[in-house]
Amino acid sequence: MCINCKERYHQNELHRFQCVERTIRTFRGVGRSFYICSDCMEDAKLPKSLARICKTDPTSALKMLKEIVENG
Ligand SMILES: [Zn+2]
Repeated sequence: MCINCKERYHQNELHRFQCVERTIRTFRGVGRSFYICSDCMEDAKLPKSLARICKTDPTSALKMLKEIVENG
């Protein structure tokens, strides 16, 4: 389920991440993870959703997500 829109999708339509010590990163197979659907990757509400999940602020959350997307 996508953390932003709460819709259910197939796994291949979702991006999987995890939050470790308030840092968002690509899921590496260990620990808790969360999903964001492709549509929500550009959603205006996403920073707030991320901030809540990762216990950080929306600006930092968006910055971390963008770095992950840009660096692959
Ligand atoms: Zn979504």
